[in-house]
Amino acid sequence: MKSKTSLLIGVAMFSAFSAAAQTNIVSSPDGKLKLNLTCESGTLSYSVNYDGNTFLEKSPLGLITDIGDFTKSLQQTGFKIDTVAFDYSVRTLKKSEVKGKATRAVWNISVDGNPVYDIVFMVENNDIAFKYQFHRYPVKGEERFCAVINDDRTFFNFPNGTTTFLSAQMPGGTGWARTAPSYELPYFVDKPTGDNANGAGFVFPCLFKTPSGWVSISETGVTSAYCGSHLVCDKNSSYKIANPIESDFNYNGTSAPGIPLPGETPWRTITLGTTLAPIAESTVMWDFVEPLYSPSKEYTYGAGTWSWIIGFDESVNYKDQKEYIDFTAKMGFVSVLVDNWWDTQIGRDSIEILSKYALSKGVSLFLWYNSNGYWNDAPQTPRNIMNNIINRRKEMAWMKSIGIRGIKVDFFGSDKQQTMQLYEDILADANDFGLEVIFHGATLPRGWEKMYPNFIGSEAVLASENLHFGNDFCNLESYNATLHPIIRNSVASMDYGGVTFNDYFNTANDTTIWGGHRVTSDVFQLGVSVLFQCPLNHLALYPRVTKENEPWKLQFLKDVPTLWDDIKFIDGYPGKNLILARRHKDTWYIVAINADEKPLKKTINLPMLKRDITLYSDDMKLNGSVKPMKVSANGTYQINVPHNGAAIFVGKE
Ligand code: CA
Repeated sequence: MKSKTSLLIGVAMFSAFSAAAQTNIVSSPDGKLKLNLTCESGTLSYSVNYDGNTFLEKSPLGLITDIGDFTKSLQQTGFKIDTVAFDYSVRTLKKSEVKGKATRAVWNISVDGNPVYDIVFMVENNDIAFKYQFHRYPVKGEERFCAVINDDRTFFNFPNGTTTFLSAQMPGGTGWARTAPSYELPYFVDKPTGDNANGAGFVFPCLFKTPSGWVSISETGVTSAYCGSHLVCDKNSSYKIANPIESDFNYNGTSAPGIPLPGETPWRTITLGTTLAPIAESTVMWDFVEPLYSPSKEYTYGAGTWSWIIGFDESVNYKDQKEYIDFTAKMGFVSVLVDNWWDTQIGRDSIEILSKYALSKGVSLFLWYNSNGYWNDAPQTPRNIMNNIINRRKEMAWMKSIGIRGIKVDFFGSDKQQTMQLYEDILADANDFGLEVIFHGATLPRGWEKMYPNFIGSEAVLASENLHFGNDFCNLESYNATLHPIIRNSVASMDYGGVTFNDYFNTANDTTIWGGHRVTSDVFQLGVSVLFQCPLNHLALYPRVTKENEPWKLQFLKDVPTLWDDIKFIDGYPGKNLILARRHKDTWYIVAINADEKPLKKTINLPMLKRDITLYSDDMKLNGSVKPMKVSANGTYQINVPHNGAAIFVGKE
């Protein structure tokens, strides 16, 4: 409270000296992060410093709407700071219990004496979240009850020398069966700023390396009350928020979101630090959003399997699914995902029999659905159910009656507000029938694990299906695995569908039929079950190959949790290597992977391991082994991880 008082006096004094420019400083609870807010010549801007270094230079704020251009002629009419504490528990996040503090600043902005919006900033030690809260604003003396946000002029101006780690947004109506955007483009690392992916911009989260550290930009709290946004490069190292691309969703729905008045935008988020640790460990996506409804039952989690990744469409038949149910039960897993065409290749009557059989073995089924509708040409069935409230609820009632666990809905292809409405409607209806929900061909979840209690995870990444599709992607498996835990998976659960012991992603497990050739080690595959976080994790195991594997590998997968209590980034560089730790109860899993041609030789410090531990590691030919180890007196470990290999430490704290 002391700092609050002195800060407010400082602002008042500064204002008195300069009527044209008003500057406000918001400090994080630990004082290291400083957000500078300026109102000058009718415009708003902010800059961000950490530990004395500039992470974001002076960047404009404001919005252009159908009721006015609110980027100019703006006046600061008030500025208040206080401290808020948060304390919540969500089982499906990277941390189960979150406690923290933020400095809250509310910046009141007017035009000609009429309050237009307040910008609310939450400043944590390594995170900033902010949103625009609109007032009811009169247009020519007439009261307005809604507005359209035509252009969000919120900028992120990076210092010279910043490089980018980005995945491009896909323009709508492109790609296979016009399903884009499917949020499935590769990440390019350490690229200079200035490129804008042929005008499409980039998907959240967007990772940048400044001369002083790392910055991740994203958004959270997106519901049917707004669109999903993305980031575009305006010029050089200047980036800004962008509305969805017109061609999304087969040109249906508007790009510009509408809000009621009063109303608000989602939270824009900035996470930064001198290392990647604050980004990998951040919970800002969930700190300021709330559950939108109560869970209709206690949802449960665990591992599962899915046949499609190895057996493709042909495996979606009664016999193979029954084999997967038996295998899943034997592994002690909880779920089998029955993928596309089940309605024609298995049939509803047989699905009922399969579901009953699964339940008798302690397993339950996920069923795949096409989201379509009228927005792309994906032919896979069942179609025209999830897009329609009447069909959807009837189907969900049937699913509930036969004990189905959840749904995987695919092929959305848009960030428009109309599509956000569809996501939300499916989630809310599914909760009424006790169903868990996974989205594929879908946008990044934005705080949804906390907001929608039956939400499990989304794809929103170049996922394991691409390992099936070809060798190019297989060759990049370790490269991608160094990126996801600190980029895509750092902000939301990721339904990746990996972890296999197949040498080839096909049922023959050889070159006689189509299917990518795996180049990573078996220990690497075990490591993926730790690195990629999703509370219900369908693994790419093929029963006929898996049963030939050494028992210790299978035991690892039987034991490894899908729910985590804590995360620690230990070391790594995107695209090269990663050492990441996750804790479940009192057990830490620490995984080191190496995408570089050279072996990763390093002394690492693992102070969290206090007792005897188990080490899973590879020799230089990627042959895995397991051995017990003693914790050394100084808590350091020498690792030597080959290209495409891994080392995993498991031990109690
Ligand atoms: Ca996909």
